Amino acid sequence: MNKPQRQTAFGGGAVVRVAEPPSLLARAGALSAFLFGEAERADASGRIAPGTWDAVFDAGLSSAPLPARHGGEDLGEPTRHAELARVLRLIGAGDLSVGRLFEGHVNAIALVCRYGTEEQIADLAASVRGGALSAVWGADDAEGLRAERAERAGQGWQLRGRKILASGAGFVTRPLVTAKSDEGQVLVLLQLGPDERADITGWTARGMRSTATGTVELSGLQLPPGAMVGLPGDLMRQPHFSGGAWRFCAVQLGAADRIVDLFGEHLRSRGRDGDPYQLQRVTACVAATTTAGFWVAEAARRLAEGCDDPELTVAFANLTRTVCERAMLDVMEAVQRGVGLGSFIRPHPIERITRDLSTYLRQPVPDLAMADAGRAVLASARPIGDLWSGR
Ligand SMILES: Cc1cc2nc3c(=O)[nH]c(=O)nc-3n(C[C@H](O)[C@H](O)[C@H](O)COP(=O)(O)OP(=O)(O)OC[C@H]3O[C@@H](n4cnc5c(N)ncnc54)[C@H](O)[C@@H]3O)c2cc1C
Repeated sequence: MNKPQRQTAFGGGAVVRVAEPPSLLARAGALSAFLFGEAERADASGRIAPGTWDAVFDAGLSSAPLPARHGGEDLGEPTRHAELARVLRLIGAGDLSVGRLFEGHVNAIALVCRYGTEEQIADLAASVRGGALSAVWGADDAEGLRAERAERAGQGWQLRGRKILASGAGFVTRPLVTAKSDEGQVLVLLQLGPDERADITGWTARGMRSTATGTVELSGLQLPPGAMVGLPGDLMRQPHFSGGAWRFCAVQLGAADRIVDLFGEHLRSRGRDGDPYQLQRVTACVAATTTAGFWVAEAARRLAEGCDDPELTVAFANLTRTVCERAMLDVMEAVQRGVGLGSFIRPHPIERITRDLSTYLRQPVPDLAMADAGRAVLASARPIGDLWSGR
């Protein structure tokens, strides 16, 4: 990636060029453009090329969420929520599959930093600086993954079962996985080798093909005593569990931004940009993405700054999911109608991105998220006009 140069004059009048490191946002923007160029190939092969991960690593994006004391850029710090939202949106605009994986990586680092010990943070940070990706693998089959304490105290854990719908199966080597235990739901940080225990043959989804979302068979895996992160039940602690939904909304929004940009290019290149019906669609799309962007930004701010009512933080995040899903479904419909058949024919990028976005919009329990938001609103003593006015 090109690094901008800054001219500096030192004593004696000699002018030397000093490289100024590009900002995180500039690197994310350049990476987004690169990812967009690679996305069609990744979709066709169902595989993100190793060079793509090298680019994410070289841009410093994979280590950016780590604390600065562990070689990162503190991107996971609450004070950086606006920048993180922007980065997620840019990566989503590049390639939604990479965005999904990156969001999981950011989430896993945040969880280890929030609930883990300094030793666990240092251990994960060392792996990430070395090129490893993390993820949160929570989805279970009917039996679920179980963590059982070894017979002799202090000997660690043994796993029984598997994770399903695990993104990055085969190349995520430091996943954080949930497991049931006698003490409740625990989080364990694993160390896997490339392709170890992974099976992605069942991942035949129409979109998000290159996320390598598969099954990871973990039966028999022995874990050291220090593998458990935090206390039982930590993952589900509110407001962080539901409140963090803004991150996947930001990634999805990036894809919607890209579709609207492509729509604009299509209209201009066909000389259809003066047509009032098409202008109405463009206006509706930009209103939808801008509105969704405001919701995402405010949901991120409320979680980061610790809203005075945690239940309203969760409600706001749930509403953000609902608003964003509707906005993106509307954008996809408008763009598909405005471009027409071409947007359904490969390799038109709108065909791929709408396939990815409609798949990635399928997040857990959307009805419950919507209903919980409604319940919280009705349970609040505040009038609707003042509902969000608290800090
Ligand atoms: C590309 C991609 C990557 C993923 N990667 C990961 C990963 O790395 N780790 C991970 O843990 N998960 C991952 N997932 C899975 C994800 O977290 C969700 O589990 C999954 O997307 C849920 O989708 P669903 O539509 O089946 O949800 P569901 O929650 O089953 O919802 C489907 C529908 O059923 C309704 N519904 C849900 N529960 C009930 C109920 N009890 N009664 C009646 N109706 C109900 C919902 O409101 C909705 O209308 C990934 C998913 C995708 C698409």
